[in-house]
Amino acid sequence: MADCDWALALHGGAGTILKEMMTPEREAAYRAGLEAALEAGRKVLADNGTAEDAVVAAVMVLEDDPLFNAGRGAVFTSAGTIEMDAAIMRGSDRAAGAVAGIHTVRNPIRLARQVMEHSPHVMFCGAGAEAFAREQGFEAMPASYFETEHRRNQLREAQKLNQISLDHNDHKYGTVGCVARDCHGNLAAATSTGGMTNKHPGRVGDSPVIGAGTYASNDGAAVSATGHGEAFIRETVARDIAALVQYGCVPLEEAVRRKVLEDLPRISGDGGVIAIAGAGAPVMLFNTPGMYRAALCEGGEAEIGIYGD
Ligand code: ASP
Repeated sequence: MADCDWALALHGGAGTILKEMMTPEREAAYRAGLEAALEAGRKVLADNGTAEDAVVAAVMVLEDDPLFNAGRGAVFTSAGTIEMDAAIMRGSDRAAGAVAGIHTVRNPIRLARQVMEHSPHVMFCGAGAEAFAREQGFEAMPASYFETEHRRNQLREAQKLNQISLDHNDHKYGTVGCVARDCHGNLAAATSTGGMTNKHPGRVGDSPVIGAGTYASNDGAAVSATGHGEAFIRETVARDIAALVQYGCVPLEEAVRRKVLEDLPRISGDGGVIAIAGAGAPVMLFNTPGMYRAALCEGGEAEIGIYGD
């Protein structure tokens, strides 16, 4: 289809991801996870599906994969509990849905989508979000579904060092996200996370905050972030990138460069973003040593990366 120009990009977190710290088996497992998510998104877009269906399909694969800090395998709070955040935004009408501090929903991104499509609100948190999940027919998963031994060890280590850590800093950021442009030229963004290891219960990061970790507008860009959430909130990273494009200030690549390589480092904000606009290839950029990432454009080859180049 000549006028079909779909594209998508996804991330599985950024941080101190160094080749020397990785075993070949672990690297292969991360690559397989990224490839499976890319394939889930590709299938939707190649079948003429919507950008929001594609980002949800890709993010669900990463939420189900315990290697990534979202859904199953989410990190622990300082109280040894799990509190997950997620958001989705649709670029055509700027509809958005978000959930924060939930602990029983297998795929938080699906609940965020229900908020967007089946409530008059944008964001639900805590007990109210869980109640909404039950109303919408979501099964309550036991804590054991989400918990992994690897994350327990990370919490022990963080508590020993008295640190609140991102999933891949010494393996600390691991939030997942996806941005897509469909055949109709519509954009969408989705982000899902367990947050930061050893975070205070009740702490909410940038991922579910519309304009910070997640944003999409067709006249600007779709953006999903990963990194030190507090800095991304203070820098309104996702909305700034979309606004720079929307108001014709700079092309997407330059907008992303400014936020990730200039504004965030000024306040010690580690992390990266994936972004896509109404035309052209997705942009994936980070100011950390690495970021799990993948991208694909209609008719092109899949690009999968982990380390900095
Ligand atoms: N941005 C997420 C948060 O601060 C963490 C991450 O990207 O891993 O909650």
